[in-house]
Amino acid sequence: MLIDCHMHTYLCGHAVGHPTDYVRAAAGRGLGMVTFTCHAPMRNEAVFRGPGIRMTIDELPEYRDLIAEAAQLGRELGVEVRYGIEGEYYPDERELHEHWDLLETEPFDFVLGSLHHQLPGFRAWLLAQGGPEEIATAYFELAAKALRTKRYDSIAHPDLIRIYGTIPPFAPESMEGPIRGMLEAAVESDTCLEVNTSGLIKQLFELHPAPTILGWAAELGVKLTLGSDSHHPDHVAQKFPEVTALLKQLGFTHLHHFKGRGRIEEAL
Ligand SMILES: [Zn+2]
Ligand SMILES: [Zn+2]
Repeated sequence: MLIDCHMHTYLCGHAVGHPTDYVRAAAGRGLGMVTFTCHAPMRNEAVFRGPGIRMTIDELPEYRDLIAEAAQLGRELGVEVRYGIEGEYYPDERELHEHWDLLETEPFDFVLGSLHHQLPGFRAWLLAQGGPEEIATAYFELAAKALRTKRYDSIAHPDLIRIYGTIPPFAPESMEGPIRGMLEAAVESDTCLEVNTSGLIKQLFELHPAPTILGWAAELGVKLTLGSDSHHPDHVAQKFPEVTALLKQLGFTHLHHFKGRGRIEEAL
């Protein structure tokens, strides 16, 4: 059974649709299970942005209630609905302590970790590392650090640094060392990486991570979650048939999903 483990709702401000709309879309596409992962509320809005990007801390109970309502509809439609969140990793870990507390105390099923280098403070930190090669290296080293914290179940769109203009686009082959370092951290920390299909509908881009990176991940035995990163109900499970075919071709036999923060293996 395919499971979409990365979906947003209108609470994120830049996504549209009520959670029940996403569940109806999932049912229409034959999914038996979905996990909502709205952008986590962060107290320091100067660093992480607030409304328009993420819910406020005060809106978290509303999020919990909306997902419960969606789960109710899911029971009628045969779609299991899980309660997740897209968390943040950031170069200055002092910014993350309250966030990490929330990830522990809120009863999430699944926690994604994202390195959103387009945040102004994140970008400034990266730009201070040197040229494009140093910046990409620093990004993948940070992703490895995020994996080693073991505070996240899966790291979302692990090669996001390849888009959004912090550095010019580059081929994964040119950064094989640092990328393999990140993959090894995933294996050692027993944390998943996410295959994120949203890149396939963003301009001219491809899958996150790129197929080349997925080939190395298959070699090393990295465990994967799969998510559409839907910001619209129409995007639920986008490109899943093509991507699962690619994963099989690369040698993957399983995907993973989470319930109550526990990992479940699912044959591809
Ligand atoms: Zn978003
Ligand atoms: Zn997302």
